[in-house]
Amino acid sequence: MHLSRFPRVHLAHLPTPLELLPNFSKALGGPNIYIKRDDCTGLGSGGNKTRKLEFLIADAVAQNADVVITQGATQSNHARQTVAAACKVGMDCEILLENRTESTERDYVESGNVFLDKLFGAGVTHYSKDTDMVEAMEVMAADLKAKGRRPYIIPGGGSNAIGALGYVNCAIETLTQANDRGLRIDHFVTATGSAGTQAGLVVGFEATNSNIPLLGIGVRAPKEKQEENVFKLACATADMMEIPGIVTRDKVVANCDYVGGGYGVPTDSMIEAVSMMAKLEGILMDPVYSGKGLAGLIDLIRKGNFKADDNIVFLHTGGSVALFGYLKAFDL
Ligand SMILES: *Cc1c(COP(=O)(O)O)cnc(C)c1O
Repeated sequence: MHLSRFPRVHLAHLPTPLELLPNFSKALGGPNIYIKRDDCTGLGSGGNKTRKLEFLIADAVAQNADVVITQGATQSNHARQTVAAACKVGMDCEILLENRTESTERDYVESGNVFLDKLFGAGVTHYSKDTDMVEAMEVMAADLKAKGRRPYIIPGGGSNAIGALGYVNCAIETLTQANDRGLRIDHFVTATGSAGTQAGLVVGFEATNSNIPLLGIGVRAPKEKQEENVFKLACATADMMEIPGIVTRDKVVANCDYVGGGYGVPTDSMIEAVSMMAKLEGILMDPVYSGKGLAGLIDLIRKGNFKADDNIVFLHTGGSVALFGYLKAFDL
């Protein structure tokens, strides 16, 4: 396994910090909780998509593209990081946003990530819930081609085998940090959505024989579907890396009990998790992914799923910019 075989543009501040959360751990009275700060990847206010974009944008450059197209939910962190990455390499960017929550709140539709998409100069087009966004991107690409442009489509969440390489890299980086300081990682926990993050991590942890159990906390799909999506993408990533079969199905585990009313719909446990982390550690989570992921971790700790001396690493995937799209949910 050797990542340098793949084209890469350096966009992220790496390695991201791996920090103990002393107050948060104490408040839960159980295991030691560490946080891997991928909210600090640096590009355009950071987040997990930046690691994926290092490989995706390099592929766009290799294909001589002059415009990237991507899609996401209205408050997509992926879209915001994609246009920032396009800015870095001098490409244009078209963003297609699906109003998956059907919110008409002005904050949700115009502030947070949407405001930044426009500040970075993206073309932004809004679509209603349940639009076929893959097809919409293809239509956009065909239109641009007809105008003589060279579009490159980045899938939602940057989640294909190329993007997942960014999280293979994160697994290796985290292991190196832990080995350097003699930290034994007993569990690694992340929010999981379009699957690229968990897929890359599971490939990285398996290919290094780390024996670190990886848990994804789902934010949209039911468990069976989420695990299937992650497993498929992990297999495709391993195949591309020429280490086929490195991930077995049993290593892909998702808990999807914390989605609540649906993707991007606030839950009480998310509000509690975001508020706890802000007040105890001065760290901003996000309302759609890391907040629900952390809510899941908190609940599992309270239910006694971990040992008192376990060391848990929670991946902070970023997204705090989206908080500004959710003022009403917090009711402060
Ligand atoms: C996209 C995203 C995730 C989920 O990552 P996937 O690779 O899509 O599973 C988690 N947290 C934040 C903040 C995100 O923007």
